[in-house]
Amino acid sequence: MMANSRESRSLRLKERFAAFVREVPWHVVTFVLRILYRFRLVGAENVPAKGPLIVSINVTSPIDTIFAIWIAFYLQRRLDLGSEDSLGYTQEDLLALPAFRKALVADPERAPEALSPHSAGNLTLSLLKGYRMLCRDGVVYLHPEGDMPWDGRPMPLGRSLAWLALHSAAPVLPVLCSISAYDIWPRWQKRPSLRGRLTLHLGQLVRVTDVPLAEVSDDDLDRATAQLRAAFDRIVYGPEGIEGWAGPPRRDGVALEGPGHVHPLKEPVPTHAFARPEKPGRNRGLAQLLWQCPVCCTNDSVYHRHPWIGRQSVRCLACDTRWAVRRMFGRDIRLAVVGGPAELVGLEMPVTMWYDEMKRNFEPQAIEVAGVELLPGEEVYLTRDDVIVEPHKPNALFDGYTGREPPRTMPGRHGMGDWDGIGEGRMLLTTRRLLWQGPDGELDFDWRNVTAVYLWLQNVLGLRYGTAHYRFRLGPMAEESGMKWLAHAATVARCVAAEEGTTVAVSHY
Ligand SMILES: [Zn+2]
Repeated sequence: MMANSRESRSLRLKERFAAFVREVPWHVVTFVLRILYRFRLVGAENVPAKGPLIVSINVTSPIDTIFAIWIAFYLQRRLDLGSEDSLGYTQEDLLALPAFRKALVADPERAPEALSPHSAGNLTLSLLKGYRMLCRDGVVYLHPEGDMPWDGRPMPLGRSLAWLALHSAAPVLPVLCSISAYDIWPRWQKRPSLRGRLTLHLGQLVRVTDVPLAEVSDDDLDRATAQLRAAFDRIVYGPEGIEGWAGPPRRDGVALEGPGHVHPLKEPVPTHAFARPEKPGRNRGLAQLLWQCPVCCTNDSVYHRHPWIGRQSVRCLACDTRWAVRRMFGRDIRLAVVGGPAELVGLEMPVTMWYDEMKRNFEPQAIEVAGVELLPGEEVYLTRDDVIVEPHKPNALFDGYTGREPPRTMPGRHGMGDWDGIGEGRMLLTTRRLLWQGPDGELDFDWRNVTAVYLWLQNVLGLRYGTAHYRFRLGPMAEESGMKWLAHAATVARCVAAEEGTTVAVSHY
C-alpha cells in the first residue's frame, strides 16, 4: 500500500516536471515579450470553465504566429485539456513547409488538421472533425482569415468559423493581438522592430446562435460572419475603428478631408531610366506592397532603405519622389513626401492610403517581348525568365503528359502540401493565358479555366486550374514582387471570368 502511494506520487512528480520542461520555452518567450514590448494579457476572465469552445485567432503580423502557439499552451493549462480534447486547423499550404511536414509525419494524430483555402470538398470533411470535437465539449482552434494582411487591414473572414459556430452553437473566444503587432513587424518587413507595445486580448465570448442549427443557409453564414467581424474589429482597432488607426492624410501637418488623392496631378510626373541598386537587400520592404510608384505609376521603381541604425526612407528611382517613413505605436505607418513634385511635398498619408492610391491608378500595360508566337489581339503584361512550375501531386505532368494545355484534374487521392517542380523556364502573363516556356516544351494556362488565383507566402503565385493546383516560384524576393504578379493575374482572371460568365476566387490583396 505504502509502496503504491509512493510510486504514484513519484509518477505525479515526474509528470509535473515533464509539463514544466515543456512550458519553459513559453515562459521565456513571455518574459522576452514583456521586456521588449511590455506584453500583457487582457480578458483572461472571458475564458469559460470548460468546452465546447471555438478559439478564433487573428494574425496581422508574423509576431502573431507566436501567440497562436502561446494561447494553445495557456488554454491547455487553464482548461486542463488532454491531447484528445482539442483540434487545431492550419492552412494546407503551410504543410508544404519542411517544419510542418516533419511534424505531420512524426505524429499524424497530433498534427493540425489542414484547411485548403480553395477546395470545398476537403474543407467539408475536415470541418466535420471540428464539429465532432465540439459535440464532445472539446476545443477547436481556427484562424478564420486564413492569411496575413500585407497592409494591416482586416481580411475577409472565411466561412469555416461561422459554419462551425452555427452548427454546434459553441461560443467563439476571440484571441486578438493589438494592431501594434503590425507596426512592430509588418509582413513586408524583414525583421521585427525592437520597440513597441503588445497586448493580447481575449475578447468576450461571441454566440451566433442559441441552439445548434441542423441546416445553415448562405444568409445565416453571412449574418454570423458579419457579427463576428464586427466583434473582432472593435477589439483590434479600438473605438475609432480602422479609420482612426490609419489617421487622416495631412499636408504640412494639417489634416485634409478625405484621401489626399495624388492623382490627377496637373502635369504627368517626368520619369527617367533607372537601375535598381546592386544590393537592394534580400527583402524589398515596403516596395513589396508599393510595387508600383503611386506617383508616376512605374513598376518596380520604389526602393525602401531600412538600415539597422538611422532613419528609414523610401524613394522612387524613376521620378525621384522621396518619402520619410514615420512610425507611431499602434497606428498605421505613415509616408511623408520630402522631395519630388512640388505639388506633393508636404503631403503625408498612411501606408494604406498610398497603397489604395496605387491600386486606384493601376492598369496593366502591354510590353514588347520577343521569342513568342502570340494569338490575334493577345498582349503581354509581365515576363520573367527563371520561373519554376510546381504542380501539386498527383498530376499527369509527372507521368509523361506532353500536351500544351496543363491537366485540369488531379487523378486519385492527393496528399497534403505535396508540390514538386518540373523545371525552370520563362513565364509570360498575357491577356489570354499564363504561358510557361520550359526546357521540355510549353504550357498554356488559359485564363478561362483558372478558378482561383492566390499568393503563397511572399513570392509564389498559386493557381487552381480546373480542379488541379499549380504554383509558380517567381524568383528571389529582392528581384521580383509577388504582389505585382498577383495584381496582374487577378485583374486579367476577373476580366476573363466576367466575359465568360464564370467566377474566379482571388486572394485578398
Ligand atoms: Zn515614381
